[in-house]
Amino acid sequence: MRDLTDPTAATDVTVIGAGPAGTATAALLHKAGLSVRIVERERFPRFVIGESLLPHCMDVLDEADLLDAVKARNYQVKNGALFLRGNARCDFSFAEQVTPGWAWTWQVPRADFDKTLADAVEARGVPIHYEHTILSAQLGDHGAALGVRTPAGATVEIRSRFVVDASGYGRVLPRLLKLDRPSPLPERMALFTHVSGDRRAEHAESNRIWICVHPGGAWLWIIPFSNGITSVGAVASPAFFDGYAGSLESKLRAIIAGEPSAAARLEHTKFEMPATVLRGYSASVERLHGPGYVLVGNATEFLDPVFSSGVTLALESASRAAGLVIRELAGGAAATAVDWTREYDDHMRAGVDVFHTFVTRWYDGTLPDIFFSAAHHPRTRAQICSVLAGYVWDRKNPLVAHHARRVDQLGKIVRGELPAGPPA
Ligand code: FAD
Repeated sequence: MRDLTDPTAATDVTVIGAGPAGTATAALLHKAGLSVRIVERERFPRFVIGESLLPHCMDVLDEADLLDAVKARNYQVKNGALFLRGNARCDFSFAEQVTPGWAWTWQVPRADFDKTLADAVEARGVPIHYEHTILSAQLGDHGAALGVRTPAGATVEIRSRFVVDASGYGRVLPRLLKLDRPSPLPERMALFTHVSGDRRAEHAESNRIWICVHPGGAWLWIIPFSNGITSVGAVASPAFFDGYAGSLESKLRAIIAGEPSAAARLEHTKFEMPATVLRGYSASVERLHGPGYVLVGNATEFLDPVFSSGVTLALESASRAAGLVIRELAGGAAATAVDWTREYDDHMRAGVDVFHTFVTRWYDGTLPDIFFSAAHHPRTRAQICSVLAGYVWDRKNPLVAHHARRVDQLGKIVRGELPAGPPA
């Protein structure tokens, strides 16, 4: 029996990063009988942004046997998204969707959520080497050697047959292998915090994420947690934030005060963490796999926070990649059958592309016009709900199969540039 608590012992798979992409992948590989270890740069719990899940996350948490551990944390149930612009409101309930699937999920403080997943996976026998940082990688068809800095400052080499890069914003292999590509999206910036004292109406508002359109050209998220804390953030071009003076907290308070629905709810809140800026977070990558490795989660492509797609894409990629790694490492005929480009890259890009259409049409005003129009048909609402629930691989949904064409067509219909016609 190999002692996997020794980071230099060889394993079948090394996973870089213990965020949701890493722990879900590790859980699935371990379940299939592979020896797997996680190498994580930080000590948990650690803060990370990305707190509003989509219902499709539940499918993968279930597949990885992680649902019960998360349920035990009593997180805030989320069963829809409420979009607000001036006096207009557009409420999407996940129960309305066309795709058969989960109609609810959670809103989670990520420090606690990620630690919950990590502890559950560790309790099954997957070692997590915290405060170990991957510095270098030699990868090939015959195995991988990773250079790791230990907490004591030493550099050791760890060997495995395969590497899964789940390093999120660390983008370990994209950087080391020069796979990074600029994002097709313009640079945006997020300014956010956690507050107490949110005047949320229980049930009516706690179980929704609020997305408020700010009249100055930004949007705000309001994500309530079950522990009484609420996550609040503003997203816009960096130039938008330059128009506000003072400290980061003063800027965020002034932005909130400029949007009436957010102001009414958050007027007397106390900031429970320093207001924090993230910018340039959108990223892309040349390819998602290579000899002896695969990228999952945010180490692949990250678009934009507006539709809360990050953890959903992270978990879907974990599920998909784990299945292929299991086949690849099984050897024999099954190994040669893995077509990584078709079975992994193309699959992930298909889902990312749907969200890409939604993100670009959010910022060019098409989707807000569709959302806040009374003219859309209930079937169209249901199709939108499925995408907002993360079911972006359901090609029976015309908003998935023909996303760009269909969204643009709907935009023209609500603007009166095309007759409505029968719903797709
Ligand atoms: P992470 O959760 O980032 O985990 C990666 C781990 O790898 C980290 O723990 C890190 O310490 C570790 N690591 C990094 N480098 C190294 C190294 N060299 N060696 C070892 N370990 C390493 N998503 C949503 O689903 N809902 C939202 O509401 C949402 N809001 C967002 C708001 C903003 C402003 C932004 C920018 C993103 C948002 N996201 C949201 C996206 C979300 O943050 C990510 O998609 C999600 O965290 C990805 O998970 P992951 O497991 O891929 O990476």
